[in-house]
Amino acid sequence: NKLIIGITGGIGSGKTAATDQFAALGIEVIDADRLSREVVKPGSPALQAIAGHFGAGKILTEDGQLNRRALRQIIFTDHDAKKWLEQLLHPLIRQEIVLGLQNSQSPYTILASPLLLETDQQTLCSRILLIDAPEELQIRRTADRDQSDEASVRAIMQTQMPRHQRRSHADDIIVNDGTLEQLHQAVKDLHQTYLELAQ
Ligand code: ATP
Repeated sequence: NKLIIGITGGIGSGKTAATDQFAALGIEVIDADRLSREVVKPGSPALQAIAGHFGAGKILTEDGQLNRRALRQIIFTDHDAKKWLEQLLHPLIRQEIVLGLQNSQSPYTILASPLLLETDQQTLCSRILLIDAPEELQIRRTADRDQSDEASVRAIMQTQMPRHQRRSHADDIIVNDGTLEQLHQAVKDLHQTYLELAQ
């Protein structure tokens, strides 16, 4: 019964910026994105299964890494392939998350996951913190960060849960529409709240 705060939000909403601040305050962060890459590292059973299913020639790079771009292209159009992949990876990622949460030593623990609300990962959390930003800011900040164009950011946003739906799942919301300093202050305030809840 440790306090676990799940952080989520759409592309470019500021999840990483917020999470880095919690980490700077001494809070351990489990990063689902990082774990999702670890479970398919070269030599892993999951990568072998994926190569067996889709063909090594199609989804492995020359040095035996998962070719994420190729895989993304396949599952973007092939719903069954997407389902197959999710059924393979989501339990493995969840298992790694659970281990990380169990080992955490800080007063509370952050679980940062872009798919927190789309998977059963939310059931691991005591509270959900949404990092929320107006869509125009999400687009501008992501395009700046990735040096990509607005249209491709919009295309990704189309595949994500709509903002109003995310908001309905959140216990706490940081509206990240100001400066980074304002974001940091909002994190500090919530940190105090979470420390009290963790008592
Ligand atoms: P993704 O889902 O794509 O990983 P994210 O939710 O982790 O995105 P960040 O990478 O934290 O989002 O933020 C997107 C970009 O916007 C980054 O370059 C970040 O530095 C910048 N940014 C975040 N919040 C602010 C802010 N309040 N003011 C200015 N820039 C910001």
